[in-house]
Amino acid sequence: ENYHAVLTENRKLFNELQELKGNIRVFCRVRPFLPGQGAPNTVVEYVGEDGELVVTNPTKPGKDGLRQFRFNKVYNPNATQAEVFSDIKPLVRSVLDGYNVCIFAYGQTGSGKTYTMSGPDGSSEEDWGVNYRALNDLFKISQSRKGNINYEVGVQMVEIYNEQVLDLLTEDNSQKKYPYHYLNSWILSTTSQNGLAVPDASMYPVTSTSDVITLMEIGLQNRAVGATALNERSSRSHSIVTVHVRGKDLKTGSVLYGNLHLVDLAGSERVDRSEVTGDRLREAQHINKSLSSLGDVIFSLASKSSHIPYRNSKLTQILQSSLGGRAKTLMFVQLNPDATSYSESMSTLKFAERVSGVELGAAKSSK
Ligand code: ADP
Repeated sequence: ENYHAVLTENRKLFNELQELKGNIRVFCRVRPFLPGQGAPNTVVEYVGEDGELVVTNPTKPGKDGLRQFRFNKVYNPNATQAEVFSDIKPLVRSVLDGYNVCIFAYGQTGSGKTYTMSGPDGSSEEDWGVNYRALNDLFKISQSRKGNINYEVGVQMVEIYNEQVLDLLTEDNSQKKYPYHYLNSWILSTTSQNGLAVPDASMYPVTSTSDVITLMEIGLQNRAVGATALNERSSRSHSIVTVHVRGKDLKTGSVLYGNLHLVDLAGSERVDRSEVTGDRLREAQHINKSLSSLGDVIFSLASKSSHIPYRNSKLTQILQSSLGGRAKTLMFVQLNPDATSYSESMSTLKFAERVSGVELGAAKSSK
């Protein structure tokens, strides 16, 4: 009830800002409480159909503890993978029309980033996350255009750990399982046309979703190499799946290039500097730097700044050709609704608010 006046008031402002933002979208997804998580104590007070979100500070009950946010979309915890994908379908499809698209998942460890991008472990088709659904869709559409436009699709998978880029599909580790060879000629022509994200990372041609699943499994195995535990490592590194598309129009003979970056970011949780040293401190500093650089780049793009600081991190360097210009960017902001995660959730939401260029201020529901 209280929210309605505030929401209506802010809606106009939001819609105006929205116009300015161009190709950047921010979707917020709240994950459900998990079995065994104890009695649910949620900070999520209200999820509106127009992308409104109101959270409550568990230590400040009542109106004073309310904070309102507005994104392009907010999902309830019970939103299905299919529902989420249906909202981004057009974005994914535009890759086949020659656009570059970046989809990120941002949030603290355990907030559902991997769930959104890949799905839960050993997932069935129903549980598939964005990346399998996206590839599945790309193959379906390219099949239906066959004879008019012929498409080729290639996949790269890299990890950024401590500002180092690692190829997750190296020949060493994957060739035995995966008999394809590099598409050298394609790599060359793509580089000259489109700027390959990581020119020397292996790229494999794929023709079906099952090819993609095989590659992702190999990538996951490689990601685990040398890590104490996959979960620990994956929460401290960024993983990027890049899908390269080349389409040849058979009538006109023209060739188009598009690419899709699917990015599962390192956990955004802040590490208490007084408590970690050595490797952990170094990891934390690198993660901090790259996430804030990403925030700076998207913020500069959203606010139409003349200088975009791409050079400040490996992540933004790699994605440079797909951030800005005609490229389309979508950030999934993931939240753990539990009251114990309140301060992390607030810092996640503030990051999201900043990159989307929309800051609504406190929910002043006193009017
Ligand atoms: P992150 O990648 O941010 O560390 P995960 O994707 O691993 O987080 O999610 C943490 C846990 O929550 C996993 O067990 C995952 O299966 C579960 N989970 C996350 N989002 C959802 C969701 N929307 N529905 C059901 N379970 C979810």
